Amino acid sequence: MDEKELKSLRDKALAEIKSIRDEKALEATRVKFLGRKGELTQVLKSIAKLPPELKPVIGRLANQIKKELEEALKEAQEALKARKEKVIPGVDLTLPGRPYSLGKLHPITQVMEELCEIFLRMGFSIATGPEIELDYYNFEALNIPEDHPARDMQATFYLENGLLLRTHTSPIQIRTMEREKPPLRIIAPGKVYRCDSDVTHTPMFHQIEGLMVDKDVSFADLKGILTIFAQETFGEATRVRFRPSYFPFTEPSVEMDISCVICGGDGCRVCGQTGWLEILGAGMVHPNVFRAVGYDPDEWVGFAFGLGVERITMLKYGINDIRLFYENHLRFLEQF
Ligand SMILES: [Zn+2]
Repeated sequence: MDEKELKSLRDKALAEIKSIRDEKALEATRVKFLGRKGELTQVLKSIAKLPPELKPVIGRLANQIKKELEEALKEAQEALKARKEKVIPGVDLTLPGRPYSLGKLHPITQVMEELCEIFLRMGFSIATGPEIELDYYNFEALNIPEDHPARDMQATFYLENGLLLRTHTSPIQIRTMEREKPPLRIIAPGKVYRCDSDVTHTPMFHQIEGLMVDKDVSFADLKGILTIFAQETFGEATRVRFRPSYFPFTEPSVEMDISCVICGGDGCRVCGQTGWLEILGAGMVHPNVFRAVGYDPDEWVGFAFGLGVERITMLKYGINDIRLFYENHLRFLEQF
């Protein structure tokens, strides 16, 4: 055996040691190269028969390779031992990991963002305010008289010291007008609270209100903006109608209906055979509201509207029970 053959034997042995995956293969490889009849052992034995000038060269190399293989085997053995120690009974580390499912926004949050987006595109900006309010901002400044039914204990969550949980996001309109000079164009999204609970009411729900104040804003602007809103939300074929209504803080006041999203206006169970669905309340801002915030009602006009996000979401997706939104069943939530 010459130097070249000896080196290729070393490379072969090292490659095999590298591929060792268990104790059995470790022992077999050791025997194959370093055992009594091992390939390298044979070489070492044959050195005596070599010509004297080759003996020292081949001898030194063969011994060096022996040392190298012994070290590589020792390392392989340690690696096997370390891997064995890592194994926990009952745990199979070769199994694939559990996939993490990606979280997503609650359907109410999704629709709320979509609706805000529509108004933001029309030049409105978002205003926010506290959920715990003063009676003044929730009722008084909004021209809601002392004897109004909304002030009843049955309808409003009253706290101590004259505080209450806001029953609508309208206090944000008052707070914004107190803070800023007209012209204004804001939407006020947020949580509101009322003592109410059935298939279409929950004690906490979400509203988006809008307010626009300028020198010559008319009811036509209100109709235009709300029509665009309805068509962007429910589709271009959506028709709207306005019915006279009453709110203390607007005059005149209207309810806006959209053509039924289920039957398209032909009449069905959802729309009570009328072909129309009530969707929001609106109107021209009452002069008393302007007086409360120090705006001159002879100089400024404006309109306001308010809608329930849960109701819009229910109509958009054909959901028949509002409580589904807050029961946190994944089977329901994963559909959005
Ligand atoms: Zn219908």
